[in-house]
Amino acid sequence: MSENERMATNLGIRGGLDAIREILGDNGAKILFRNVGLVHIYENPPEYNWEPCMTIPEQASIYSEVENLVGLNGAHGIWRRIGYTTIGYVDKIGHLFDSFFDLAPKERFNKALELFVAGSGKGRVVVNDEELYDLDVFDCIHCKGRKTKRPMCNHYTGHIQYIADMAYGKEVYFVKEVKCKALGDDTCYVKAEKK
Ligand SMILES: [Zn+2]
Repeated sequence: MSENERMATNLGIRGGLDAIREILGDNGAKILFRNVGLVHIYENPPEYNWEPCMTIPEQASIYSEVENLVGLNGAHGIWRRIGYTTIGYVDKIGHLFDSFFDLAPKERFNKALELFVAGSGKGRVVVNDEELYDLDVFDCIHCKGRKTKRPMCNHYTGHIQYIADMAYGKEVYFVKEVKCKALGDDTCYVKAEKK
């Protein structure tokens, strides 16, 4: 499937909108969505469900606009916070991970990561030495054509950090982007490492 045929779900976009409103404020969020031609999403937010909402490149334009508004340096941290908060909303309001609640931490983490990949349509899971899943975003379009000094796909690290905190509690794992195409790597690879 080409990236244009894959769709971002209402769940992902609504979680993202709510996260951006929380972090940038209502006005900031409105400006951001207006700048990328998606003000209708701001004005009529989709429900938390699995219906397709917009194309993956449209979704990526929302994240890219953060950099246009605040510059790359500021965007690194904001992307991570938006990524984290988005999955928080998807969990708490969308109840996405409720059925994993009773599982042991590792299984909870892996199941949630698997569901993230299935739901977001981004990347694939890779089993690491600890039998924990890593996220391999081989199809990342966020950093396409970019050259940066630091890994820049921080929204993924935020997403997976939330899942690690949910499964293990805070301060147990720190999630890092250990490879990024913007650094010349062959993929964007996100990994939870023991603190
Ligand atoms: Zn990337």
